[in-house]
Amino acid sequence: MSQTKIAVFGCAGRMGQNLLRVADGDDACIIAGAGERPGHDWIAQDIGTLLGISAPGVAVTADPAELFKNADVVIDFTMPEATIANAKIAADTGVALIAGTTGLSHDQEAVIAEAATKTAIMRAANFSVGVNLLEQLTKRAASILGQDFDIEILEMHHKHKVDAPSGTALMLGYAAAEGRQVNHDDVAARGRDGITGARKAGDIGYAVLRGGNVAGEHTVMFATEDERIELTHKATDRGIFAKGAIRAALWTAGRGPGLYSMLDVLGFAD
Ligand code: NAD
Repeated sequence: MSQTKIAVFGCAGRMGQNLLRVADGDDACIIAGAGERPGHDWIAQDIGTLLGISAPGVAVTADPAELFKNADVVIDFTMPEATIANAKIAADTGVALIAGTTGLSHDQEAVIAEAATKTAIMRAANFSVGVNLLEQLTKRAASILGQDFDIEILEMHHKHKVDAPSGTALMLGYAAAEGRQVNHDDVAARGRDGITGARKAGDIGYAVLRGGNVAGEHTVMFATEDERIELTHKATDRGIFAKGAIRAALWTAGRGPGLYSMLDVLGFAD
């Protein structure tokens, strides 16, 4: 069986460590490189020893070029500046890049798009396979079910989360609105309290729960007289993002230039 050489940039981070562990447990992957920021304690140390995984002879490097030299695909969950620099190296070398870092500006996203004209780059705000599937199912269900089905989105997260509704809940709301061919912001009902009056036909409602250490739960409900459809995704561990990113890396390695998304990986692209 041919194996894909994977390098992970930001290897000491929460995602980096998860990614290396998932890659270690996947027979389709060989860990070919691990990178960190200059000055990090892990530089020059053996990544296999640090994480208790199998990565013979792979020392952590601060030189991204070294990662691109040895890998079929580089996975980057770091900081926007580092990801942009890596996109340029990916373009120069033709090696594929999985860009998982969030918080990029429009200008930085444009740099990624430009690099993707020269090599394969995969970009996603949420690498969970399940959430991306749920988004598509939501869009499809909303397009099939008529206006007499009321759409409500319920989400629960851990008590430390500061924003509401979650970005993923909103992503699902936008998918429902797209399926229904309406403008999301015109129909979103994001907070109900007191004498609200009857539910407005066509609204997409949101409800938010917070508590404990819940990694993330989302339910999209389609409710009409005497029946209700519920589509639910429950994340119990952030490792799902790492699993999705490794799946994406295996899919992207060796592809031609292009800016790919999880929808491409899952075969859902329009
Ligand atoms: P983290 O802070 O735990 O890890 C980031 C790592 O990158 C650190 O080890 C840091 O030293 C390293 N780093 C920073 N600058 C660097 C540089 N210039 N060169 C090399 N290494 C550098 O953060 P995290 O939780 O692992 O998240 C990292 C990024 O991934 C964030 O942007 C986060 O929002 C994003 N993320 C995306 C998804 C998704 O599904 N798309 C999921 C989780 C996290």
